[in-house]
Amino acid sequence: MKITFHGAARTVTGSQHLIEVNGKKILLDCGLYQGKRSESRERNKKLPFDARSIDVMVLSHAHIDHSGNIPNLVKSGFKGDIFCTSATRDLCVAMLSDSGHIQEKDAEFVNKRLRKRGDPEVEPIYTQQDAANAMEQFVGCGYLRPREILSGVTLTLHDAGHMLGSAMVALDIEDQETKRTVKLVFSGDIGHPGMPILRTPSVFEEADIVIMESTYGGREHPPMDQTQTKFEDTIRETYKRGGKVIIPAFAVGRTQQIVFALNKLYNENDLPPNIPVFVDSPLAVDVTSVFRMHPEAYDEKVAAYMVNEDPDGDLFGFPRLKYVRKVEDSKTINDLKGPAVIISASGMVEFGRILHHLKNNIEDARNTVMIVGWQAPYTLGRRLVEGATEVRIFGEEYHRRAQVAVMNGFSGHADHSGLVNWVRAFQTRKPREIFLVHGEPTAAEALSASLKKDLSYTGVHIPDLHEEFIL
Ligand SMILES: [Zn+2]
Ligand SMILES: [Zn+2]
Repeated sequence: MKITFHGAARTVTGSQHLIEVNGKKILLDCGLYQGKRSESRERNKKLPFDARSIDVMVLSHAHIDHSGNIPNLVKSGFKGDIFCTSATRDLCVAMLSDSGHIQEKDAEFVNKRLRKRGDPEVEPIYTQQDAANAMEQFVGCGYLRPREILSGVTLTLHDAGHMLGSAMVALDIEDQETKRTVKLVFSGDIGHPGMPILRTPSVFEEADIVIMESTYGGREHPPMDQTQTKFEDTIRETYKRGGKVIIPAFAVGRTQQIVFALNKLYNENDLPPNIPVFVDSPLAVDVTSVFRMHPEAYDEKVAAYMVNEDPDGDLFGFPRLKYVRKVEDSKTINDLKGPAVIISASGMVEFGRILHHLKNNIEDARNTVMIVGWQAPYTLGRRLVEGATEVRIFGEEYHRRAQVAVMNGFSGHADHSGLVNWVRAFQTRKPREIFLVHGEPTAAEALSASLKKDLSYTGVHIPDLHEEFIL
């Protein structure tokens, strides 16, 4: 059996791992690589394998760095099934369509420049239509319901507690060549225990081969209640200054977590009086309705909260919250005087409506930009986290006077201890090989060091891009 790491190798984004066994090919995730524009385009456009040769795909969760290149895979000739949870499938309907729209816009932007130079134009990596076509191949599965996806290969999805519908992937494989059965566990993204709405991430007692994420290797999150307090304080203080809180957030997952936190504050009368809250992202609007459709993926606490403490029984809505879909309505938010909370995408401040809100508010010292998620290198979000005061938005320089508040505790990812504990759970059968993916080199190395030193593992690898391992 062979595993090749075609993405999220020594970096976080672009999750794509290829397993070859018994003459068949299984692709785990098919994510978009997110980085510098030109490099990303090249890497995402050209798949590192023949799409037609893949027999089956398993998708851990709907985030674009895991699902975002599926339409390209299908367009390039992949004909097999894509197994994931039903919530992941439904989230992908909205997310891949949105991503197709972004690809179309991106190609238009690039082509404008190419035309000026008289160079040949490029095509979008995929379109909204390609995204719609890909949905045909999705197959929704429940958690903990084993299913044979190829002869001799059984798939079981376990709740990863990372976002709605997120899964850890267990494959029980009868390897005909070595005549051994192999349990391969792919962690997907491992959740941060204690996150509202989501269940505690699953653990496993046995595995032979593990592919696991390492985003927060070497870093610990502050306790959840500390984050909640900082969140409330930041909103209150900005309100007192008469400023706006601008929150760049992934339309999927993080936005709903933030809305849920605000909803709770509202019900407890802890939200400053009359402060309007806007979720300005058409994708977030669509995705929030998918969240409402999948209560089977919530934890028990939330289910009880909905019944007992939320008067309207809507976790993602309260009277002062407005969801904004139309561009015209988004523009009217700019004219608003006085305090407000504005949640918008993209989460790493690379594109989308958040750029308009930032442009309009970043030079005003009363305002706060609240960072609630991980920011990739080279993104504007990362620059803000690093304290940059001169930032470029739509090609123009802005001097940042607004405060930047970083809330690490909202992370959907396990921290260093969480990752180590996840591995510690393999008690009955310890994996002989652990591959660390989905982390920058320093993070993956920090985790590797702990697994070797604290848990006495020897077979820990940090694969390079396209590196293959025969097992
Ligand atoms: Zn994720
Ligand atoms: Zn991820």
